[in-house]
Amino acid sequence: MESRYDAIVIGGGIFGCYSALYLASKGWRVALLEKEARLFQKASLVNQARLHGGYHYPRSVATAVMSDAHKERFTAEHRPFIHASFEKYYAIDRYGSFTDASQFERFCQYLRIPCERIEAHPLFNFERLEALFRTVEHSFDPVLLAAWYRQRIEAERNIALLLQTQVAAATADGDEWRIQTQTNDGAPAGLLQAPIVINATYAATNAVNRLFGVQPLALTHEISEIAFAASPQLRNIGLTVMDGPFGSIMPYGLSGLLSISSVAYTHHSISYDDLPTFDCQQPHTDPRCQPQAPGICTTCPRRPPTNARKMIAQMRQYLANNVQLQYLFSYFTIKTKLKASYIDDGRPTEIALLRTQPRFYCLFAGKVNSIYEIEKML
Ligand SMILES: Cc1cc2nc3c(=O)[nH]c(=O)nc-3n(C[C@H](O)[C@H](O)[C@H](O)COP(=O)(O)OP(=O)(O)OC[C@H]3O[C@@H](n4cnc5c(N)ncnc54)[C@H](O)[C@@H]3O)c2cc1C
Repeated sequence: MESRYDAIVIGGGIFGCYSALYLASKGWRVALLEKEARLFQKASLVNQARLHGGYHYPRSVATAVMSDAHKERFTAEHRPFIHASFEKYYAIDRYGSFTDASQFERFCQYLRIPCERIEAHPLFNFERLEALFRTVEHSFDPVLLAAWYRQRIEAERNIALLLQTQVAAATADGDEWRIQTQTNDGAPAGLLQAPIVINATYAATNAVNRLFGVQPLALTHEISEIAFAASPQLRNIGLTVMDGPFGSIMPYGLSGLLSISSVAYTHHSISYDDLPTFDCQQPHTDPRCQPQAPGICTTCPRRPPTNARKMIAQMRQYLANNVQLQYLFSYFTIKTKLKASYIDDGRPTEIALLRTQPRFYCLFAGKVNSIYEIEKML
């Protein structure tokens, strides 16, 4: 293994992969470290696949503007993996919404995103909805995106992909980082050196920051479930109910499946610690999932039982009686949020230079289509 690189990127989700490809395209030699056996196994695969265009964040204009700003470019550069031809509705719950219909309309006008109020629709229950809006929102296909990014990383000569590899220890030596790596079993895996490190590990952000001696971010972590279902009537329709009693059902990319999430039932356990610390990790000492090195929830035998029945029951309140919904399976992963997001439900992508000489960037991802924020920083 060659040990000296221009940059070391830690984390092989979409943010780490995009960072590595971006730097490699400038002629940099990059080592990409990924703890698991394959790239794209966590949040970049297990999400609702919404290609955010702003609608979702009426209480966080900063997140809405950032999502909208990157939507066109992300669509253009990932076109074969984007479902752009379904009908997308946003709705306001009649009870308990933090945003009402007129506020939502004004917010869309402010962002200049299309939003047309619909007075009747055979598939939705207007007794429960204060208002329904026809909008324009697309969905990316995480499975196809993952395959595409894996291919590109493998084909890129300037990237050395080190799978099942983690940082064991890091020290600053003048302008360079010296990083001792290890396998998931703790066996030494070699020494790497580089003047720049980028931490793109999402749920493991603070664990990696800690190894490099830089400050933690104020984060919360939630074991989250995305349920998948099929419906003959909703095959080409998405509905997202804002804002508070949130629930959403929409096409999961080009798969023909519908993904379902809800504020009340998507999240199972919450960890307020710096590191993602959950009861399911405590009784066992499996190195594949610990607070300092979280694992893959979907394939974990200790993952929580599904909440799909409750999610579907919640969504049914907004749907006409004749809509059939069949639950198929669920994916689980850890969702990590900035603690500050509790105020406005925002999901900014935060990239911070936490140390200079040698440089250490901490890249905490809000939305998939904000990968381009990296270019501003690097
Ligand atoms: C339930 C849910 C729904 C969401 N819905 C949407 C949505 O609809 N639209 C949207 O745009 N965004 C959505 N998001 C947010 C989006 O998925 C994330 O912001 C994004 O995928 C994060 O990408 P990432 O590359 O930073 O993290 P990840 O994809 O989690 O990648 C981090 C990688 O780092 C690796 N890693 C961790 N520790 C180490 C280590 N020590 N050494 C080496 N590698 C390590 C992990 O194994 C993982 O592969 C959702 C997120 C969740 C969880």
